[in-house]
Amino acid sequence: MSNNTIFDKIINKEIPADILYEDEYTLAFRDINPQAPFHVLVIPKAKIATINDVTEQNSHLVGHLYVVAAKLAKEHGFAEDGYRVVMNCNEDGGQSVYHIHLHVLAGKALGWPPY
Ligand code: 5GP
Repeated sequence: MSNNTIFDKIINKEIPADILYEDEYTLAFRDINPQAPFHVLVIPKAKIATINDVTEQNSHLVGHLYVVAAKLAKEHGFAEDGYRVVMNCNEDGGQSVYHIHLHVLAGKALGWPPY
């Protein structure tokens, strides 16, 4: 399909990724270009291009992404010091892969605002 992204290849194990978590609905893997000591992407296996495509029908998948993000942060020891969970949307939001994903960033004090 023309709207396939690199993340479909990762979901289908056609290209390698450092996968930290997988279940029926979700995959979590390390970002190839980390912006923090711990930088993981949590994605739904279902194709949802941007936050604009989240609906009442698929919103449970988005909630599950946060459950997985928190689970990973806890497991890797970042729950107490803290971490950031971000989802970029479209060009001005900094989105480059059009398959929604949570960035989970941790391991240092993160700056705010981003720019
Ligand atoms: P966005 O810019 O859409 O919010 O985030 C996309 C993220 O996907 C970027 O942080 C980028 O480094 C990451 N990324 C792009 N291609 C790949 C890839 O092939 N493998 C992995 N692990 N991460 C990727």
